[in-house]
Amino acid sequence: MTISSIEAIALIDANNFYASCEQSINPHLRNKPVVILSNNDGCIIARSPEARALKIKMGCPYFKEKERLNKLDVAVLSSNYSLYADMSKRLMNLLKNHCEEMEIYSIDEAFVSISRPNDKNLYPWARKLRALIYQNLGITLTIGIGENKVRAKVANKLAKNIDYSAGIFDLARTKDENNYFKEISVDKIWGIGKQTSNWLKSKGIRNAQELRDMKENQILKKLGIVGRRMQLELKGYKCLPIEKSNKSKRQIQVSRSFGTPITKLEDLTQALAIYAIKASAKMRSQSLRTSFISVFARTSKYSSQNYQKSANKKLINATDNTNAILKIVVELSKEIYNPEYKLSKAGVLMQDLTTCKNLQQSIINYKSQEDMKKSENLMRTIDSLNKKYKNKAITWAITNKPKEWTINRNLLSRTSTTDIIKIPTIVI
Ligand SMILES: [Mg+2]
Repeated sequence: MTISSIEAIALIDANNFYASCEQSINPHLRNKPVVILSNNDGCIIARSPEARALKIKMGCPYFKEKERLNKLDVAVLSSNYSLYADMSKRLMNLLKNHCEEMEIYSIDEAFVSISRPNDKNLYPWARKLRALIYQNLGITLTIGIGENKVRAKVANKLAKNIDYSAGIFDLARTKDENNYFKEISVDKIWGIGKQTSNWLKSKGIRNAQELRDMKENQILKKLGIVGRRMQLELKGYKCLPIEKSNKSKRQIQVSRSFGTPITKLEDLTQALAIYAIKASAKMRSQSLRTSFISVFARTSKYSSQNYQKSANKKLINATDNTNAILKIVVELSKEIYNPEYKLSKAGVLMQDLTTCKNLQQSIINYKSQEDMKKSENLMRTIDSLNKKYKNKAITWAITNKPKEWTINRNLLSRTSTTDIIKIPTIVI
């Protein structure tokens, strides 16, 4: 725990990320109201600032708003996750080159550390970074700077709220910190959930200033060390490190909602098989193997039926072989299927992940080196062909029959940043 004035932490966040990505690849959408819909074109999950100005609400079911959106000439799009993931990768790659350490916090947010120059002024650095990202990706950033992660988060909030900030706010350079802290309500502070904020409010603690100055014992007793650390960070101490290591994931999940509910076992099996193929490829791309496979299915939250079931299998030898995983998933799908229910979502989870380097073999079910090499070569060949000739150049027969249950994405934008065929062409 140190107070450091030389090293600063910045929280960099892309504004209206999904809508900005869409506006970036389609110039017609710039300066126009844009909304993005959730899977199956269900609800509104993202809005451009122009759509916000029209008072279009988050979370609204699309069918209810359809007519009004039409009247207001709002561009409505299905969510295009491959576009957002690709833009996120490009964003993080650019950010990485302009900071010392970086922790990717979400698809459009990163904590970075940066040394302060002699005059301690990081505004020129932040302005340059904003301009660079806008020039390269057409996305605007908000940059909050502080002595630590919690204060960087608070600064980011202030940068968004204060009109004249131009998207940048450095908390360490303000003289009247209390005036700003008073403006931040406790429920807006990073790490404070609804329950905690209710408790704080019941104690008369309403804003960041009151939380920072609250009695230490009181906070430690109720919120433990996590709460204490947060309070110390508000005071300017550094307790939470930048987690820069690409920590391997604890689980890999692939799940989707269906466009049309599933009632037949063969459809459920097919959906789970497709998700298992995806999850296995994802695992191999990170050199991981699973020794615990789960599948689940459930009815819609909005239907009168209420059914949810999962099944799992523990493996003796960890694997990343799609053939082996598919056999298990096909068997497990029979355990969770129930003909009486209309299933609206299902998924596959790969857990107990281990890296291929420290693979432990069971002495009971020992596989020869030759068999393992064979399996490895086969998977590597499939992955490299799919990479070269786009996904699904090689896949399993189970995925090939017609699918009536796939999600609706009727309003999908182009995938011009990830798909060479969709790249815009200029005719001279
Ligand atoms: Mg954002």
